[in-house]
Amino acid sequence: IKGTIAIVGRPNVGKSTFFNRLIGQRKSIVDDTPGVTRDRIYGEVDWLTQTYRVIDTGGIQIDEQPFAEEINMQVDIAIEEADVILFLVSAKEGVMSDDMAIAKKLVRSNKPVLLVVNKVDNEKLQMDAFEFYSLGLGDLFCISSVHGIGIGDVLDKVTEIM
Ligand code: GDP
Ligand code: MG
Repeated sequence: IKGTIAIVGRPNVGKSTFFNRLIGQRKSIVDDTPGVTRDRIYGEVDWLTQTYRVIDTGGIQIDEQPFAEEINMQVDIAIEEADVILFLVSAKEGVMSDDMAIAKKLVRSNKPVLLVVNKVDNEKLQMDAFEFYSLGLGDLFCISSVHGIGIGDVLDKVTEIM
């Protein structure tokens, strides 16, 4: 395995849909430790000649933590474990305050981060996606996990970085 990719983002942006697209037919792996439910978060993706480990951090549930703190801890785990972080946001909802909070943390981490705008299902949403430049993370990768659009470009960039 060449390296680890972690998917982060607030709930409902499509992290699990994207994760399932990446791992395809391959099975996700469950790893439960007390107080932390890691519900089918590990998988593998093959791209060109390489294999990468993928983590869907949204599947990591930490008991007795408020919602915002849970996301915070998921981002910490991603920063710790990943070689490349894919930060998922949603073109349908636009920039939310939780997106800004996550972006700040990721910038401070100095890890390679790709900003992936999901739910870009059509041209109108493609225009809406531009607002994510305001997060200050550079280039946007526009994808639709449901339709399987744009995912190869993300993996090409991951390959270039690793
Ligand atoms: P998570 O909470 O970030 O893991 O998000 P999920 O993968 O569970 O997806 C949340 C909702 O967004 C589900 O209803 C998905 O079907 C939907 N969704 C995911 N990707 C896309 C997409 O590319 N386009 C659209 N329109 N909906 C999507
Ligand atoms: Mg999920």
